[in-house]
Amino acid sequence: MERVSKQLLNVQQEITAAAAAIGRASDSVRLVAVTKTVPASVIEEALEAGQRIFGENRVQEAQAKWPVLKERYPDVELHLVGPLQSNKAREAVALFDVIETVDRPKIARILAEEMTRQGKHPRLFVQVNTGEEPQKAGIAPDETEDFIVLCRDTYKLTIDGLMCIPPLDEEPAMHFARLAKLAEQLGINDLSMGMSTDFARAVQFGATYVRVGTAIFGARA
Ligand SMILES: *Cc1c(COP(=O)(O)O)cnc(C)c1O
Repeated sequence: MERVSKQLLNVQQEITAAAAAIGRASDSVRLVAVTKTVPASVIEEALEAGQRIFGENRVQEAQAKWPVLKERYPDVELHLVGPLQSNKAREAVALFDVIETVDRPKIARILAEEMTRQGKHPRLFVQVNTGEEPQKAGIAPDETEDFIVLCRDTYKLTIDGLMCIPPLDEEPAMHFARLAKLAEQLGINDLSMGMSTDFARAVQFGATYVRVGTAIFGARA
């Protein structure tokens, strides 16, 4: 109990300090507590400490943990931060409040269909592969504008944010800068970037959501 609430407080304080250092209001940056592999009993410690925004990277794992927790804490905002398969789109629309990983036309089309069918409208971010890594999900930076236009004009989807996961072996700052510039050019307000080791850096570059797991819950098994 103590540990999770203490780590949450530490991370929040670091976010506030990083925001203050560049003259941003601390409430312009929201903490997404990433709970992949974290059991529900430990998630509850974060909930009891007041944390309300959470992220999961797998639809199936989230389905096993979150319906019960959401019933007890109805003001939870749950983000999908991992890749979305089209055969999981129905469950994803039903469970998540924000889907951060829209990254290809097929998934945009299926999300649009599901949102209409269910009458439920999670907020959508586009994942950008800023490092242009072949094995990584996300749309190429050069293709992002066309993709967002397609989402808007063809599928009537509003894209509220951009998200990135920088390459492990590169300085993240240049990727944060690249994503921020793209968002500015495209008139997009939300930027989801920064994880346990670099979230303060991401705040300096304009993150509005940082996604932090290890620094709150400890190393994953
Ligand atoms: C696991 C994960 C995180 C959190 O990573 P930590 O290094 O544990 O803070 C953030 N974003 C995504 C997409 C993840 O899968």
